[in-house]
Amino acid sequence: MKLEKQYKAYTLSNFLKYKKIKQNLTTEQIQAIQVVGRVLPFKTNNYVVDELIDWNNIPNDAIFHLTFPQAKMLKKIDYEEMEKALSENLNKLQIREVADKIRYKLNPNPDGQNNNVPIFENKRLIGIQHKYEQTVLFFPSNCQTCHAYCTFCFRWPQFVGIKELKFAMNQTDLLIKYLQNHPQVTDVLFTGGDPLSMSAKQLEKYLLPLLETDLPHLQNIRIGSKALAYWPYRFISDKDSDDLLRLFEKVVNSGYHLAFMAHFSHPRELETKAVELAIRRIRNCGAEIRTQAPVMKHINNTAKIWQQMWQKQVKLGCIPYYMFLPRDTGAQHYFAVSLIAAVDIFREAYRNLSGLARTVRGPIMSADPGKIQILGTTMLNNTKAFALRFIQARNSSWVGKPFFANFNPQAIWLDDLQPLNRNKFFFQD
Ligand SMILES: *Cc1c(COP(=O)(O)O)cnc(C)c1O
Ligand code: SF4
Repeated sequence: MKLEKQYKAYTLSNFLKYKKIKQNLTTEQIQAIQVVGRVLPFKTNNYVVDELIDWNNIPNDAIFHLTFPQAKMLKKIDYEEMEKALSENLNKLQIREVADKIRYKLNPNPDGQNNNVPIFENKRLIGIQHKYEQTVLFFPSNCQTCHAYCTFCFRWPQFVGIKELKFAMNQTDLLIKYLQNHPQVTDVLFTGGDPLSMSAKQLEKYLLPLLETDLPHLQNIRIGSKALAYWPYRFISDKDSDDLLRLFEKVVNSGYHLAFMAHFSHPRELETKAVELAIRRIRNCGAEIRTQAPVMKHINNTAKIWQQMWQKQVKLGCIPYYMFLPRDTGAQHYFAVSLIAAVDIFREAYRNLSGLARTVRGPIMSADPGKIQILGTTMLNNTKAFALRFIQARNSSWVGKPFFANFNPQAIWLDDLQPLNRNKFFFQD
C-alpha cells in the first residue's frame, strides 16, 4: 500500500467544517477554542486529527490538548474579557486590541530572547540569536509557521503577528558573514517556526550558500522541526518530498553532520506507519535524528509516557536528547509541573531505560543565564536542597559546576528558587 496524504490545515476559520471535529466537541469546547484561539495561535491538520487524536478520549486526550485550545489555557479574567469582546460583536481591529492586551500579559518574550540578538557591523541581526559560543540560531523569514501549532509554544508571538516580537531573516549572506567572523561557532541551527514548513526550494536557498562557502570551523548543521510529529508526509508524499531528501543528502555529502532536532511530545506520535517511514527516509540520507520536548501536565507528565517514548525512539534509530520544563510564557500556568515532579518523572523513566537511551538529559530549564539541569535533591547541613548544573551557559565557564538551591516543592522555574546559604547564585555575582 502506498502511503500518501494531502495536507489540510484546520484553523479558527474552518475547523467547524470538519465533521469529525464538530461531532466530537461540546458547545463549551467549541466556544473555548473560539475564545482562546483569538489570543494564542490555533492550527491543526488532517494527520493530527485523523491519525493521532483519540476521539474517544475527549477532552483528556494528550494530542487533543497539544493542538486544540482549552478554556483554562487563559486565566479566568482574560478568558472572560475575550468572551465578552466576542459577544459584543466588536470589529476585527477592536478584537485584535483586546487580544494584544492579553498577549502582552503572557510574557511574550521569555528569558531575554531579545538579548541574544547579536550586533554585527553596527546592525542588530534580527533573525539570528547567538547565546552559546558554539551554536548560532538562524530564523529564516519564510518559515514562521508550523504544520500545526502546539498550545504551549514559547515562540507563539511569532505566529500571531506581533511584529516587534518576530525574529526572522531573509538572506543567508549576513549569516555567512557572521559565521566568517565568529570562528568559535561549530553549529548552525535552523529554527522558526518550523523550517520544514518551507518548500525544498526555499530551504535550498538558505542551505546551498552555506555549503558553497569555505567555513572550516562549521561542523554541524541542525534543523529544528516538529514535522515528524505533525506532518510526516513532508518526507513521503508532498510534491517536493524527494527534493527535500536530496537536499539533506547534499548537506551530508558536503561533509557536514546534519542533525535533525525532532520535537516529539508523546509516544503516540511515534506509532503511525507514516512516522516510521519518514524516520527511515531521513536516516537513509545520512542525517541523525535527536529528540526533545517539554514535560507538561495534560500531555506527558508520567514516567511511563517518557519511558515508552524514549524506548520507541531508540528502536526507530533516534537519539533522545533533552527533556525541558515549559517556559514562563503563554499558557505556562496550565502546563507547568513542579521542578520536583519533573525530576521524579525523569528519574523514574531514565532508570528503566537501556543505556542506549540514556543519552537524554533533563529536566532542563532554558532560562536567561543558560540551560539548567535539575539533578535532584540532596541534604546539605540538614537542609534539603536542589542540586543543579548548567548544561549550556551564556558564560561557558559556568557549565558543569554543581550549585544548590533551597528545596521548594512548589517551584516551577528558576525565579522560584533561592540560593542555598548565599544571597545570590554564583552566576549572578
Ligand atoms: C538550546 C539552545 C541551543 C543549543 O544547545 P545545545 O545544548 O548545543 O543543543 C542554542 N542556542 C539557544 C539559544 C538554545 O536555547
Ligand atoms: S512545533 Fe515548535 S515552534 Fe511550532 S508550535 Fe510547536 S513548539 Fe511552537
